[in-house]
Amino acid sequence: QKEKIVSILNRIDGRGYKAYLDLKGTYDFDFFSLTIQHVQRDPFASPSRLVVEVYENSFPAELHQNSARKIALEDYISRAFRKSIGKFTDNQRGSGKSGIIHIDAGNQEILQRSSVNISPDKLEIRFLLGLPARGRRIMGREAQRILMKILPEIVSGSCFYENLPSDELIHHVQSFEDAEYMRSQLKEHELVAFIVDGAVLPRESGVSDRPLSNALPFKSPLSLQVAMETGQDCSVIGMGIPEGVSLIVGGGYHGKSTLLRAVELGVYNHIPGDGREQVVTRADAVKIRAEDGRSVEKVDVSSFIHNPPGIGDTSSFSTENASGSTSQAANIIESLEAGSKLLLFDEDTSATNFMIRDERMQRLVKKDKEPITPFIDRVDELYMDHGVSSVLVMGGSGDYFQKADTVIMMDNYQPHNVTMEARRVSEEVPDKRETESKGKFGYTQRYPHPGSIKPYKGKRLKLDSRGVFNLIIGSQTVDLSQVEQLVESGQTRAISYALYQFHKTCVQSCNGNSGKNDSKNSALAGVLDYLEKQINDEGLDFLTPPGRERPHNLTKPRRYEIAAAMNRLRTFKVDK
Ligand code: ADP
Ligand code: MG
Repeated sequence: QKEKIVSILNRIDGRGYKAYLDLKGTYDFDFFSLTIQHVQRDPFASPSRLVVEVYENSFPAELHQNSARKIALEDYISRAFRKSIGKFTDNQRGSGKSGIIHIDAGNQEILQRSSVNISPDKLEIRFLLGLPARGRRIMGREAQRILMKILPEIVSGSCFYENLPSDELIHHVQSFEDAEYMRSQLKEHELVAFIVDGAVLPRESGVSDRPLSNALPFKSPLSLQVAMETGQDCSVIGMGIPEGVSLIVGGGYHGKSTLLRAVELGVYNHIPGDGREQVVTRADAVKIRAEDGRSVEKVDVSSFIHNPPGIGDTSSFSTENASGSTSQAANIIESLEAGSKLLLFDEDTSATNFMIRDERMQRLVKKDKEPITPFIDRVDELYMDHGVSSVLVMGGSGDYFQKADTVIMMDNYQPHNVTMEARRVSEEVPDKRETESKGKFGYTQRYPHPGSIKPYKGKRLKLDSRGVFNLIIGSQTVDLSQVEQLVESGQTRAISYALYQFHKTCVQSCNGNSGKNDSKNSALAGVLDYLEKQINDEGLDFLTPPGRERPHNLTKPRRYEIAAAMNRLRTFKVDK
């Protein structure tokens, strides 16, 4: 049947690009089938979508028998496929995207993606190919060379166990599974994060996520040392960051933000050689930062902000243009609402007047003139009464010493436990600032209107991502540049699809067109539970909107980032 491709290509050779549409269909090759799923309109458009199904799954069952191993194996195969593509460098003859072969395979994180799907009896690969053209004329021979010669070589080189370096493959899977296992032990150790000795935390540059060469490896201080079991009957030593309130202090340029960044991304597992393979953080960690200019929809920020001039009631606070402090307050409440119990802060990206208000300022500007209850007056209450831990990078103020359960000092990139010293300092230099919290911490749930998510532009469904940090939905572009734990554009795209799915639940379940939601379990957290469960049960394909069947470019997002996108939609509406 593959000969059919040859005859079609011979027939359409030299004709206008549209004739490539004749290629749509499924063809049997010797050891796989090829489906040409979608043909691009012209050589400059986004490349055509292809699916290869390898008839046989040659990978030992033990490498994909549980969901963790399956994710890691699929990730490995996608990387092998990409590497295999890279061996054919002279493909790109012709105009536009002619000859480009692309698979979504990720960077430093091992994640579940839609590009590779392994099942007990077959292996499916979804990828892109720019069908070649000279100008807008079909290059039939070149297309033949790519489809009939190069593609089988790529598939054979990356989709069969016996053709892959098994040591490397097994290590990839084991390393992922170890990290999962370590993360699962954090709770019983009463830790929020673990950083293994020898880890390499700094990155090559602000634009490269690869490890910095010649970095000083991480070394835990004795008093914070923990032994953590990996899955392979052995244990590793490293630093545990305990639950509660933890401060990271130290001079400028000593590695505080680098440590926090590693903790932020410790919610994901990293590829071997990354340096952060055994840096693990509880899965519910959310980075909190100031984000002035964002929109906020009826968030109850009253635990942090009361009666600001011209606003009044802050238990249902909305704005099109939040300030640094109100955006940070909203970010906290929204993260808790989505289910997080671990908040991460860096002074570099926090609003100072939200984090602290010192004794002198309290004397000069009286409490009744300051609408903000600074975070310092809620941080311990959040832990004691609500079980919410905080890790804060704070080099510029000692006010938090009194509140901290653990103080870690970074000195020349190495951590030291200075909890005792910090306690002594706060006794020697007593803090006379007054606690400013009024009433107990709390907030009210919100019930999102699925109808306020507008996925259509005119009549056309429009859902996509532009890079990692711009989400396209309907006629809106949602700015996610301050949502710092997003790592792949596939996640952003999957989030836009998830928002569409939520929108659809309304069309199905809301009677009438009010877009109102009256069932109790459709509080925002309930919506996230639903989406998360569907993705876990049915895979990423569940998210796919009509017309995008068998997507090649989705990466599993976390519920916190789905919520973050929803909360930043400028059309978003909720009931309280
Ligand atoms: P801080 O937040 O304390 O001001 P940063 O974390 O921003 O400091 O680190 C300052 C610089 O030091 C960065 O360029 C970072 O890449 C580098 N750095 C951090 N940790 C290490 C390390 N372990 N080895 C080498 N360089 C490091
Ligand atoms: Mg810093």
